[in-house]
Amino acid sequence: MREDTGIGTGTGTSTSDMADVVIVGGGPNGLLLAGELGLAGVRPVLLERLGGRSAAAKANGLVGRVVEALDLRGLYGELAGRGGPPAPLPYYQFSGIALELGTLPENPMHTLPVPQARIEEVLEARAERLGTEIRRGHELVALAQDADAVTVEVRDPDGRTYALRTRWLVGADGGHSSVRKAAGIAFPGDTDDSFSSCAAHVVLPDSLLAPGTGELRLPDSPVARGPLRPYAHNRLPAGVFTFAEMPPGSGVHVVATFEWDRPPGAPGGPMSFDALRASVRRVLGTDLPMSPPEGPGPHPLRRTDGVNSRQAQTYRAGRVLLLGDAAHVHSAVGGPGLNLGLQDALNLGWKLAAQVRGWAPPGLLDSYEAERAPVSRRVLMHTRAQMALMRPGEGISATRELLAELLDGDPGRAARAHLAALLAGSDVGYGRWYPRVRALIGEGRAGIDAALRSARPVLVRLSDDAPAIAGWGDRLATVTARPAVPSAAHSESGADAAPLPPAFVVRPDGYLA
Ligand SMILES: Cc1cc2nc3c(=O)[nH]c(=O)nc-3n(C[C@H](O)[C@H](O)[C@H](O)COP(=O)(O)OP(=O)(O)OC[C@H]3O[C@@H](n4cnc5c(N)ncnc54)[C@H](O)[C@@H]3O)c2cc1C
Repeated sequence: MREDTGIGTGTGTSTSDMADVVIVGGGPNGLLLAGELGLAGVRPVLLERLGGRSAAAKANGLVGRVVEALDLRGLYGELAGRGGPPAPLPYYQFSGIALELGTLPENPMHTLPVPQARIEEVLEARAERLGTEIRRGHELVALAQDADAVTVEVRDPDGRTYALRTRWLVGADGGHSSVRKAAGIAFPGDTDDSFSSCAAHVVLPDSLLAPGTGELRLPDSPVARGPLRPYAHNRLPAGVFTFAEMPPGSGVHVVATFEWDRPPGAPGGPMSFDALRASVRRVLGTDLPMSPPEGPGPHPLRRTDGVNSRQAQTYRAGRVLLLGDAAHVHSAVGGPGLNLGLQDALNLGWKLAAQVRGWAPPGLLDSYEAERAPVSRRVLMHTRAQMALMRPGEGISATRELLAELLDGDPGRAARAHLAALLAGSDVGYGRWYPRVRALIGEGRAGIDAALRSARPVLVRLSDDAPAIAGWGDRLATVTARPAVPSAAHSESGADAAPLPPAFVVRPDGYLA
């Protein structure tokens, strides 16, 4: 049960009480940050304008390093319904071009197929358990900051406003972020208005689906000459068609089309099943028999016009920080959004907590942007590239053919490894990744794992002579460990082979300091 902090509640405008951190936005990123702060002993107030959890269908799962990162906190097991460690997928795709990954020396492509609504449910319960006061139906409407604090104006569920003072404000309020706008942070980038997408949950006839593989066979289609692959971006002359059974075994498929240069849909108008059918017909060149799922729903049916690729000019303005979609938006192709945003939260959480608790060295908080903004720039780069490579046109078909040749077989292994690291977000430049050096540690792993589970930085001493730090027991765990026998270390695939120093610190987000 949450406890009310008594900070700035009610209808008055008293600002005498001060919160340490207010998070605006109870999406996945704001909720994960709230839990991270809680683990570090900071109890934030979280404002969420929706009265209940959103029913909108968004991500269908997690892709990339975030899966291992959540495993460090014990969240993989909770979300997957089974214990870790997660195993990587032996294949993935770049703009619909198949990538064979099983033969790579290190395969970073971990995935976890869980709907975003379930992720939010787990993260919300965790945040509350760890002391976050979640105020649902409370919307930030304005903010002002001075040298000591930020004052936010909040509209409560009854439409009355109150003021709230906080030392730090985090805008995790999505791509249209009010916090970003009110803080005067620019959001440069571009919008591709030529793009449109229709998506829905549907039931497809079993007769068209190949048993076992789930491939879709369309004998009447003049353009889909072979079977269409599930979970793939099937590029056809007039657009892209994707379909996937979600969740597997449910009999319900998520179907989506990508088209370019279509007239925009009626602004704000409802999307219809007939419009979906028409879009599918244009892309596949034939009718696809499909029907809405039975039952009360909700059964998502959506049209999206335009795709944004934008990144905040800065992630921090004074005492205001941006997180997740508030800091960056891009195409959802390949599912990089949560990989990026949730790792932003894991990066920011311990740094902001150290700042609040008064032991952050100068520059620690600003290292959040220094480390994470380059990762976002790479996501914008690869999602733009993937979208460009999916557009119709003979020149693009030829470019794809050439790319597929370069990625093929043994000669293409280095290029596949490069793309896999890019897509998984494992090519970050700020430190070695603990799950990869774990194999180099023999005795002592359990102590390190336990510290990371509760987001504590941990000093690992690989010999009794290694330096120790006295008097920091409140902020740092210490584990005396032993190196693994070399043969055991090398038998674990993907191990980072570089030798470890006699002592090192593993940061709460899983990187070696
Ligand atoms: C159709 C679709 C499919 C997607 N598929 C994938 C995928 O497969 N994989 C993937 O990784 N990502 C996917 N994404 C992206 C992913 O959903 C987002 O990256 C993610 O939701 C961002 O989380 P967030 O917490 O930053 O913001 P949001 O989820 O947008 O949450 C922001 C929250 O802030 C609240 N809020 C806004 N303004 C205020 C205010 N003024 N006061 C109080 N509260 C406020 C909102 O109500 C909302 O709850 C998809 C997105 C969409 C739309």
